[in-house]
Amino acid sequence: MTSTVRSSQQAAERLPAHDLVVVGSGFFGLTVAERVASEFGLRVLVLESRNHLGGNAYSEIEPSTGIEIHRYGAHLFHTSNERVWDYVNRFTTFTGYQHRVFTISKSRVYPMPINLATICEYFGEHLTPSDARELIRQQAAEIDASSADNLEEKAIALIGRPLYEAFVRGYTEKQWQTDPRQLPADVISRLPVRYNFDNRYFNDKYEGLPTDGYTAWLQRMADTPGISVWLGTDFFDVRSQLRPGTPVVYTGPIDRYFGYAEGELGWRTLDFEQEVLDVGDFQGTPVMNYADSDVPWTRIHEFRHFHPERASYPQDRTVIVREYSREAGRADEPYYPVNTERDRSVLARYRARAAAEPDVYFGGRLGTYKYLDMHMAIASAFSMVDNELAPRLRN
Ligand code: UDP
Repeated sequence: MTSTVRSSQQAAERLPAHDLVVVGSGFFGLTVAERVASEFGLRVLVLESRNHLGGNAYSEIEPSTGIEIHRYGAHLFHTSNERVWDYVNRFTTFTGYQHRVFTISKSRVYPMPINLATICEYFGEHLTPSDARELIRQQAAEIDASSADNLEEKAIALIGRPLYEAFVRGYTEKQWQTDPRQLPADVISRLPVRYNFDNRYFNDKYEGLPTDGYTAWLQRMADTPGISVWLGTDFFDVRSQLRPGTPVVYTGPIDRYFGYAEGELGWRTLDFEQEVLDVGDFQGTPVMNYADSDVPWTRIHEFRHFHPERASYPQDRTVIVREYSREAGRADEPYYPVNTERDRSVLARYRARAAAEPDVYFGGRLGTYKYLDMHMAIASAFSMVDNELAPRLRN
């Protein structure tokens, strides 16, 4: 069996023979496809509505500079899951990149996530780890940490009100445009708070960027014998051609699958404003966050800094991308599940409908309405293959 990646305009053509259909070619969909094709020797047809592979992890080269741009926002790979790390290393090597972020609050620059350097700088004094812990304990005392069940309470319980107001409130307002008391607490728990000078963004054991870029990695997954990928093909346009009873792994938005019958789930989308500048270095770091609400963008990415090892990048030009967040309409790309109380009750109704579809398996960030990182999407694809698809597909 060979693998094929085909572009669109073949709606009139018949779909190739298949044992499993995967809707969406992001990390979740490609991991399921690769596992089922390699492990079970089955034919997997991947349907992708966009004209490229990889969902939001897709990256491309900006032609005038040769700099790799993550078209749907910066993607930083990190995991502590050994199985995931072993797996991804089959398709790509990783650079030694370690993510570090800075944030601007009231015209001053601080390291992010909040660590001892941020705290010392913000309060303008030298604090030891135990001084800082004591100070934040006092400032966080207004909230009972054990009952903090929304983003605002959780953040204040972790870092106290002054740091919350300086670094989290404005950024979160821009990012979510939702009352932070309506947002789930686990959104803020993504960020570590450290009482030492470690300013790495992630705590995971393994971290890095794919040496040859995301698209080469995704392409190698899709090149697995037994996988056919049809790009530019909307599942809903071709589903009538599927062999009846064929299992389908659906990684698109769950509300769209059911024709929005239970209402729309809240999503945030992002707008990107890209500029090529005639300077070798615009901001001196890959990502600068903007904490204040009077700056309309949430952050600026300068993509050259993700690959300092690439000697081919020009010394006198750079590419920056300003990121803006807004509510997603049906025609927009969904990025972040908002997950308010209302969303959770709508989701419960879709989940009940999903349970009544024996041939359709919902997965990935859009299919499960979960804020999954890449490594989590891959781990969750393993679980679906092991626990749900293997018993059905393995002869
Ligand atoms: N956050 C913040 N200030 C920052 C960075 C993050 O308040 O400078 C909050 C914000 O609510 C955000 C959440 O932390 O939605 C998670 O941030 P993360 O960087 O993990 O988001 P992602 O990279 O997925 O956009």
